[in-house]
Amino acid sequence: MRTGSLSLLVALLGFAACGDTTPEGSAVGVAAEALHAGVFVAADEDPYAPRRKRMVEVIEAHALTASSALGGTTLDPRVLDVMREVPRHEFVPPKFRADAYADRPLSIGQGQTISQPFIVALMSDLLDVDSNDMVLEVGTGSGYQAAVLAKLVRQVYSIEIVPELHQSATRRFERLGYSNIETRQGDGYRGWKDHAPFDGIIVTAAASSIPSPLVEQLKPGGRMVIPIGRPFATQQLLLVQKDAEGRVTTRRLMAVRFVPLTGQHP
Ligand code: SAM
Repeated sequence: MRTGSLSLLVALLGFAACGDTTPEGSAVGVAAEALHAGVFVAADEDPYAPRRKRMVEVIEAHALTASSALGGTTLDPRVLDVMREVPRHEFVPPKFRADAYADRPLSIGQGQTISQPFIVALMSDLLDVDSNDMVLEVGTGSGYQAAVLAKLVRQVYSIEIVPELHQSATRRFERLGYSNIETRQGDGYRGWKDHAPFDGIIVTAAASSIPSPLVEQLKPGGRMVIPIGRPFATQQLLLVQKDAEGRVTTRRLMAVRFVPLTGQHP
C-alpha cells in the first residue's frame, strides 16, 4: 500500500461525480481543432492525446486546490499517467466524443453516467493500490473506471446491474484488449464471493449505508471507497479501511453526487 495519497486533503471540497449533463457536439474535427490551435498532429499519433494531457492538467489543478487548502500532497503520479493513457472517448457515446475529455460526467444511456475524470482519478488514488492487487468495482457503467484500475492492478472484477450496460462494457473491454477485467451482471451489493477477499473495493453508485457483504469481502489492510447518502441528493464519499486485525474504520472525505445503488437489498 502506498502512503501520502490525497485522501487527507479533500474533506472540504465537493465535486459533482455523476450528474447528467447535456453536452452538444460530435466526434469530428479533433485533429482539425488541434491544427487550429497550432498543434501539429502526426498521422500515426492519437489525436486525442493532447486532450488527455489537458484533462490531466485540469485534474491536477483540482488536486492542487485541495492540497493547498489542506496542506497535503498531490495525486499519485501512477494514476495521472494512466489517466493520460486510457482513451476516455472510447467509453462515451459517439455523440459526446467531443466532450470526452472535459472534466465532467456524461450520459451513457439507461439513465446512467460516466463519472467526472477528477472523481475517477481521486477514487483510484484513494484505493492506494499496487500492481499485484485484486480490486472489485460495483457499477461498471461505461467501463472507464475499471479500465483505469486495470492499468494499476493485477485483476479487476466489475459488476453492473443494468444488462445493456454490462454487455456493452464487456464488449468494449474485449475490443480494446483489457484482458484483466472480468465482468458480471447482477447486484453488486452482495459483492463477488468467488473472488473475495479483495485488496480494494470501489463503489461508483451511492448506497444508503455501507453494504456489509462488501466489508466482509475486503482483505485485512484493504480499502473501500464508496459514496453514502440519499438517492439524488448530495452524498459523502467515504474511505473504509480494514486494518491487519480486521478492525474497520471509516472516514468522510467530501461531498459528491452519484446515481443511486439500485437492486433488491437491505
Ligand atoms: N464506473 C462507471 C464508469 O466508469 O463509467 C460509472 C458508474 S455510474 C456512475 C454507476 C453505475 O452503477 C451505473 O452503471 C449503474 O447502473 C450501476 N449500478 C447501480 N446500482 C448497482 C448495483 N446494485 N450493482 C451493480 N451496479 C449498479
